Amino acid sequence: MSKYLTLAREGLVPQMDCPLDQGLLFANTDEEDQVFIYCLSCNYKKYIGIHLYENMKGLINAVKK
Ligand SMILES: [Zn+2]
Repeated sequence: MSKYLTLAREGLVPQMDCPLDQGLLFANTDEEDQVFIYCLSCNYKKYIGIHLYENMKGLINAVKK
């Protein structure tokens, strides 16, 4: 997930911005291994569903090739 955000900063995959203030989003996992993204400048936090997560992994793999 943090890999995706690194690639996004390099413009290789679609950038994800905070919908509230367009701030940079960071990724983390909670104690139950649920992936979520959060914004540093406001308190925005969103859990990523498995579908979106798999979609992102697909994009990362496409970049690696
Ligand atoms: Zn924000």
